[in-house]
Amino acid sequence: MERIDKLLSNKGYGSRKEVKQLIKKGLVKINQSVVKNEAYKVDERDSISVRDEIIDTSSKVYYLLNKPKGYITATHDKIEKTVMELIREKEKGLFPVGRLDKDTEGLLIITNDGEMAHKITSPRKHISKLYYVESNAPLVDNYEEKLREGLHIGDEKACLPAKLYNYKKINENSWTMELEIYEGRFHQVKRMIKALGGKVIYLKRVKIGGIDLPRQLKLGKYIKIDGAYLEKNLKL
Ligand code: URA
Repeated sequence: MERIDKLLSNKGYGSRKEVKQLIKKGLVKINQSVVKNEAYKVDERDSISVRDEIIDTSSKVYYLLNKPKGYITATHDKIEKTVMELIREKEKGLFPVGRLDKDTEGLLIITNDGEMAHKITSPRKHISKLYYVESNAPLVDNYEEKLREGLHIGDEKACLPAKLYNYKKINENSWTMELEIYEGRFHQVKRMIKALGGKVIYLKRVKIGGIDLPRQLKLGKYIKIDGAYLEKNLKL
């Protein structure tokens, strides 16, 4: 049994507040009758509609995808291939949580749980993300100090302090490292590395909070995981 306002918010019908408005306006029906009580409890046997459209009440699912290059992080697109084309599951309302660039690989969470997705991407949560980075130019010598102080990458605010591990020169054209950040700004890693004198030529997300990209998971493949495991490891 779940409260109708929570269920609708989870399904992506808006925040709890927005959903309460929908209910108040009489746009939500349970078993063909308008319901005005946002705390009304429903289960999978109830037929629920919003604006007379029946919604799918199957439960929430979570997948970890190893995103390959060449796919955009969106549910559909007229031109580009999207990450959702890699997911063969039939649950309705699946979408990617957060965003990886078209040329970025690695860990991406796919779910139909709007509330969980909201928590994961909330700027207030500061969930860590770890990226493996290859640059074709070296970083400035004082990169550690600059990262600790918070890099300026052209936004209004400086970045939150970030950490860089395992900085290595591979050859004259390649330096590798891991960068841990606590935000999710547009092209953030690429812009941070640029601000440190480098240029990203390969980027892969390897960890979100306490969730590692599973080692055995090949590019383009995904595994189903438990919501409680996700919640625990992301400390939501
Ligand atoms: N930072 C980037 O620049 N790109 C990504 O895809 C993710 C983080």
